[in-house]
Amino acid sequence: MSTVDPTAPLGDGTRLAHAGDEPVVPGTPLRPSPVFAAPYHLGDQPPGAGGADAYARPDNPTLRVFERAVGDLDGGDCLSFATGMAAISSAVLAVVRPGDRVVLPADGYYASRVLGRDELERLGVEVELVPTLEIESVAARGDLAGARLVMLETPSNPQLDVCDIAAVAEATRAAGAVLVVDNTTATPIGQRPLSLGADVVVAADTKALTGHSDVLLGHVSTARTDLGRDLHTRIAAWRKTTGNPPGPFEAWLAHRSMSTLDLRLARQAANAAAVAELLAGSPAVRNVRWPWRAGDPSYALAQRQMLRPNGVVSAELADADAVLQLIRSTRFFLAATSFGGVHTTVDRRAQWGGDAVPAGFVRFSCGIEDTADLVADLGSALETLG
Ligand SMILES: *Cc1c(COP(=O)(O)O)cnc(C)c1O
Repeated sequence: MSTVDPTAPLGDGTRLAHAGDEPVVPGTPLRPSPVFAAPYHLGDQPPGAGGADAYARPDNPTLRVFERAVGDLDGGDCLSFATGMAAISSAVLAVVRPGDRVVLPADGYYASRVLGRDELERLGVEVELVPTLEIESVAARGDLAGARLVMLETPSNPQLDVCDIAAVAEATRAAGAVLVVDNTTATPIGQRPLSLGADVVVAADTKALTGHSDVLLGHVSTARTDLGRDLHTRIAAWRKTTGNPPGPFEAWLAHRSMSTLDLRLARQAANAAAVAELLAGSPAVRNVRWPWRAGDPSYALAQRQMLRPNGVVSAELADADAVLQLIRSTRFFLAATSFGGVHTTVDRRAQWGGDAVPAGFVRFSCGIEDTADLVADLGSALETLG
């Protein structure tokens, strides 16, 4: 007799290896191949008879399997989108009306602010930007009253500030507003905003969830509550009407890639711990941020709210030249934007013009290389910075 309790919670590695999978059928692949279709055969049946798929803009089995995988990890119901911004803009635009007030992070992913400034305001939506470190006090003062939607990004990209999701969720619920959390940096196994009271999770799966720097993708997961189910219906209708689901190949590739997220995050986090320590010990570097490093301003809240660390570290070098010098003197710290991939990357954020950061501010994304190799590489490069 087996003594295994089938209801015991499973570890991240197990959940990821099996996420979204159907019960086994002998003679079939462990994971189904992508289904490429625009229309499906209708035969002599009316569209949708017996639950059959009719047209792929709303219905694709590859997307459904991938969405079940991501939704189960988030603890909600997932809709996949062609990019992170498609997911974020859909979650917001499917909900707001002219005259609504929307609160967005002042220091999060810059394109979310552009969405507010260039699209929401044009539609008569009032956009208020609040820094991640101030949203809790804004909420505690009752200043979210009258807001239709509040979006958080925690840890914020690129400065890695953390805010208290549960505290803000309580205030948004009291205010009758929808709480959306951009969970890109944390990933679904690093933080579960829906279980902390958020109504909607959005994420750029372009980053660590897929983690190989080879796909653009995003998702929206809604809470399994009455409000969450209403939002899911609304956002699914939005996606069908505006026509922005991802292609099945991307969804299949993402499902394949996310199987290894537990392993990748573990190595990325170990590398980040070592890289942050090395950076902090260098006289050429200031303001090293990694929320899991003792002494980091976000440490206590990250420990309490998040489930595990990841590989994103930020720091400040003297200026743009110092960053260039670092890039030229390292072998494995590749200059690239985005983050969460298997390669270690560095991005001087000021070069993009969207973030209010100093010229020498760098976002490091630690990959899955061996820690000793990264430490040796970065250590010798930092010495050249004097
Ligand atoms: C990258 C990113 C996005 C946008 O994702 P795309 O796939 O590039 O559209 C949104 N939010 C955060 C926090 C991101 O890092």
